[in-house]
Amino acid sequence: MANIRITNCHIHTFTAQHVPENFPFPGAKYIRKTPGIIRGLGWAARLLGQEQLSDQLQRLYQFQQQGARETQQEILDDVSKYYPSDTRFVILPMAMQNIGFGSVPVDLRAQHDELAQMRDTANPPGSVLPFATVDPRDPDSVRECLRALTELKFKGLKIYPRLGFAPDHQRLMEDIYPLVDRLGLPVMTHCSRGGVQGSDVCDYQGDQYTRPHAYLPVLRKFPQMRLCLAHFGGQVDWTAYANARETRGGENWMTQIREMIGSGAYPNLWTDISYTLFQFDDFAPILRLLLRGTDPASQRLHARVLFGSDFYMTRQEELSERAVSIRLRDTLGDNLFKQIAQTNPEVWYDNQPEDKSLWTGQG
Ligand SMILES: [Zn+2]
Repeated sequence: MANIRITNCHIHTFTAQHVPENFPFPGAKYIRKTPGIIRGLGWAARLLGQEQLSDQLQRLYQFQQQGARETQQEILDDVSKYYPSDTRFVILPMAMQNIGFGSVPVDLRAQHDELAQMRDTANPPGSVLPFATVDPRDPDSVRECLRALTELKFKGLKIYPRLGFAPDHQRLMEDIYPLVDRLGLPVMTHCSRGGVQGSDVCDYQGDQYTRPHAYLPVLRKFPQMRLCLAHFGGQVDWTAYANARETRGGENWMTQIREMIGSGAYPNLWTDISYTLFQFDDFAPILRLLLRGTDPASQRLHARVLFGSDFYMTRQEELSERAVSIRLRDTLGDNLFKQIAQTNPEVWYDNQPEDKSLWTGQG
């Protein structure tokens, strides 16, 4: 078996302390304080013969318990158990202070500081790769993000436009991206119809902020910046693709990402398979087909897909981290798995040189 040094390009370790008190609904904080309610509902559902509902509640309980950990380090320790000991983890924080669900008990500065400490004490050294995040609508958040990039020396940026801002927001375009670009750092952004949405953001608006084409002004102004659209468009769009159905707005984001990368016009545009591929049986064969093509568009995609999981969001899913990565390796084969889990992350994150011939012809 080939030795593969995995980089998981997408995990989270933020806790309930970094989430607004009223998220996702008023009173949520009470349920968080008494998680037994969810577990109790699960037992009741089982008693009533509602096996499926009971399983769902059990997974919701697991998810809620994961976020209830006291520290980010504990969550990292939980996810590390599923992976070989030399695995590296890109950790993505969240800035949820201004999304209309009340105040956040522990602020972004403290969240970043804790990540810096985890990086500095990581075992093995170099295995913890924290990113800085920002809500560009909030000047304090912009300052804090710049501090994390310059003083804490975080080696990447995470944004989450679905919270309520466009990816070409003026503060991003003028303050944040120029620094990230100058430092040669990678960017990760949430690109699916699911996940967290600001309280005053309707689905239509959320889609406008999130759709792959929303990044065109960013790609044009910062063509050298390595930008990853996470989740490969997301499960809704993969399901629609598999069933040849329409999605909201009449565009399929999985297809849109494939076309943008495949065209060769954006050599530094990337995608990751996090969360989406936890719907493993339906989607892994599709992924394998997409990556195995020999035409230039497929070869470009082959060089631009990253392995990531989205732990601990995935505690809501049936398969564990280890189950998914083992099945993925089996389905894709060692060579393809190595490409997305080791080779591609070393270009995206570490900025290692690669063969550029796929992009010189631009066809
Ligand atoms: Zn995520």
